[in-house]
Amino acid sequence: MADPVHAAAALLLQQELGELGVDCLAPPAPPAALGLEQIATAVAGCHACPLASTRTCTVPGEGAVGAAVMFVGEAPGRDEDLSGRPFVGPAGQLLTKIIESGMGLRREQVFIANVLKCRPPGNRDPQAQEKEACTPFLEQQIASLQPRLLVALGRHAANHLLGCDQPLGSLRGRLHEKPGRPPLLATYHPAYLLRNPAAKRDCWQDIQIGMHHLGLTPPAR
Ligand code: SF4
Repeated sequence: MADPVHAAAALLLQQELGELGVDCLAPPAPPAALGLEQIATAVAGCHACPLASTRTCTVPGEGAVGAAVMFVGEAPGRDEDLSGRPFVGPAGQLLTKIIESGMGLRREQVFIANVLKCRPPGNRDPQAQEKEACTPFLEQQIASLQPRLLVALGRHAANHLLGCDQPLGSLRGRLHEKPGRPPLLATYHPAYLLRNPAAKRDCWQDIQIGMHHLGLTPPAR
């Protein structure tokens, strides 16, 4: 029997598909890729897990429709919950610096999202039930964007996207290739880098692996 919260999120997506004229009685996998705005609309109306009752705003993610790079964190924090935008607090400012000063891109050129679209109270770790309920939205975003590179920020996002349970240290430093998925790079969450500045060097090495994959060179200083 389908899990009720997962089924509710799937139902929301199916309603969006129905509005597009896609037959909702047809097998749902793989679903037609929804547009990013349609996914954001579905997220805004989602009550598929208990975080709906504690959130201020949903935080679906933001960025360019044709983004080659998609950054994925674990969940919105306080600043994101209040603003409805991903990575806007101090950790977000560091992520923006990595994107703009490090990679030579503008923040508006990439897509930034989280595994969860609502803030866990007190920034606690995401729970398995919440991640399962929210996964259809992230998967639809990846299917819609089809980025050339996924960058998982932190252990939770990396394990979720890779379907494993390993320390970040064993996952970072290389591209993870899986059939039917964009190559994935795992690196430190910017919030971790703020607490552990010495790890910035390792993060920069990771980012350079991604840049090489994308054919990017660091901007002139
Ligand atoms: S976290 Fe995801 S599944 Fe839970 S209410 Fe928010 S959008 Fe829905």
